[in-house]
Amino acid sequence: MSELRFDALRGEEVVYAIHRQERTFLPSREHCPLCPTHPGGPKTEIPFPAFEIAVFENRFPAFEAPRGAAEVIVYTDSHEGSLGTLSPQRADALMWVWRHRYAELGAREDVRYVLIFENRGVEVGVTLHHPHGQVYGYPFLPPVPQHELRADERLGGCALCSLLAGELDDGRRLVYESQAVAAYVPYAARWAYEAHVVLRTHRASLVECDAGELRSLAAALQALVRGYDALFDTPFPYVMVVHQAPTTSAAGEAAGGGHVHVEFYPPLRAAGKLKYLAGSEQGAGTFIADTVPEESAAALREAIALAA
Ligand SMILES: [Zn+2]
Ligand SMILES: [Zn+2]
Ligand SMILES: [Zn+2]
Repeated sequence: MSELRFDALRGEEVVYAIHRQERTFLPSREHCPLCPTHPGGPKTEIPFPAFEIAVFENRFPAFEAPRGAAEVIVYTDSHEGSLGTLSPQRADALMWVWRHRYAELGAREDVRYVLIFENRGVEVGVTLHHPHGQVYGYPFLPPVPQHELRADERLGGCALCSLLAGELDDGRRLVYESQAVAAYVPYAARWAYEAHVVLRTHRASLVECDAGELRSLAAALQALVRGYDALFDTPFPYVMVVHQAPTTSAAGEAAGGGHVHVEFYPPLRAAGKLKYLAGSEQGAGTFIADTVPEESAAALREAIALAA
């Protein structure tokens, strides 16, 4: 069981999940816990010889009922590949799985915020290479979604709608466009190749998206990941998070705000060069970037077109 402590100096929760120290660390391919269980072979987390997408509770959870949730979403039964190399049908199915996990966990009284995310690459601390993502159901509203809700208040409406309009109008940082989705390196990107993938129509969560929008979102995410991999001709590490509206609180109050978007934070600032969070970022909370968003966007746009 993990423990929550409130950091009174920062005004933020800290989660102690000490059992996570024991979790499987970069197992060999034969001992991958996310591969299917083959007859006669070692038992994995998934007791089937084949599967499409698998969801199960994290064995080393940061959160668990009755104080939140932590799940693993395995994208494929194939050990190799990435979000970018899934078939379009599988990527589309993954959006429906995301939608379902958001709806189900979000309906729980002990879940205040559902965060779907993927850590890719050892650079961001990945312990299993098999293509997969995770879902956390936080029993409180974490700081980043809080910031986004405050942005809605400050801008007097949906912040994402207004930022998207600005990016479409400016155009220099756009990297991908389709009928339902646009992707851009944000005006004030923290990471050199940070990208936000945004539904053009205001949708508070994936539950509000229609089938065409989910398909477009999957296609945009795949195009972006393939473009990332093409950028330096190497599997590109990133942290990917899906931001949606907070869900109902334990007090039963209605949740509001949010506009579905997916944020990518890649730690590479150049081929083979990692950005570290150091004095200014950690001590002041101020990012110092050494690249210009317009230039990274131009390079990323080209890479996406090349990889298409
Ligand atoms: Zn595997
Ligand atoms: Zn909006
Ligand atoms: Zn966001």
